[in-house]
Amino acid sequence: MKGFVIKNTGSWYSVRTEDGQTVECKIKGNFRLKGIRSTNPVAVGDWVEILCNKEGTAFITSIVDRRNYIIRKSSNLSKQSHIIAANIDQAFLVVTVNYPATSTTFIDRFLASAEAYRVPVILVFNKNDILSEEELHYQDLMMQLYDTIGYKCVAISAHNDNCNDLLYPLLKDKITLFSGNSGVGKSTLLNKLIPGISLRTSEISDAHNTGMHTTTFSEMLSLPCGGWAIDTPGIKGFGTFDMEPEEICGYFKEIFSFSKDCRFNNCTHTHEPGCAVRKALEEHYIAESRYNSYLSMLDDKEEGKYREAY
Ligand code: GDP
Ligand code: ZN
Repeated sequence: MKGFVIKNTGSWYSVRTEDGQTVECKIKGNFRLKGIRSTNPVAVGDWVEILCNKEGTAFITSIVDRRNYIIRKSSNLSKQSHIIAANIDQAFLVVTVNYPATSTTFIDRFLASAEAYRVPVILVFNKNDILSEEELHYQDLMMQLYDTIGYKCVAISAHNDNCNDLLYPLLKDKITLFSGNSGVGKSTLLNKLIPGISLRTSEISDAHNTGMHTTTFSEMLSLPCGGWAIDTPGIKGFGTFDMEPEEICGYFKEIFSFSKDCRFNNCTHTHEPGCAVRKALEEHYIAESRYNSYLSMLDDKEEGKYREAY
């Protein structure tokens, strides 16, 4: 039988089968996923093959190739990583221009990582009910900026009932990762979108699993419009992605498109003569905030620092 993983507690996996049942599964002790060193070989979003034995216990026997997956390093030193979710269609990045203000650096780092993972992002500007005229104006400018670069933007208030009408069409039949700084209203929004749930308490690994750290695991929430929301308690974003300095430019879409006209093809767009990116910046075709975010990501690499992207 085939199905996909909607919940992972660390020792049990809830698998939604093609006929709509939810089966609690274990994984075989010798189950290994080729090429990935991970603390959790199976993640939410994974399509898996399951088999029930005579005693009625269900096991995951194989995993279908992933379209994409996002990981988080377990620690700075460990080479192991934790797979947050697989086969994601898109991410909602919930942001607020105030209460609390989301920095453009945070947004741009998130977008760059999402580009690296090839996950489309929709920017959801929340808390419109409490923003001043001036803040709403600033929000409009932000929305214009990101819209021009190619990211869909939507302004909502999670306290307003019409937010569901605005968001359901974007979520319908898709697997969406919900991200954003804490306090921006992710839980409030999910509670609004999915009547009857009350978020959020983080899962603690099964007591049988002695020796495991207390870890938060992801869960998929079924959306009334069709599709699934991935709630990742305690995880603010995509985590880190090992980018080479020369790769970073490629994840800033508009900067990348200008970089093709730079005189040197290994131009870092910081000091080189004949740099088309800095020319575009001077002529305001590239926003200063975006360029500064690019520089800040480049700085992390040049100083050889390991830093959490968020
Ligand atoms: P999370 O950390 O992203 O999950 O944020 P929460 O959902 O816990 O929300 C943080 C605070 O912001 C709570 O006090 C919410 O009631 C409030 N909040 C969330 N969305 C809105 C909104 O659209 N408007 C207003 N005024 N407050 C909101
Ligand atoms: Zn350049």
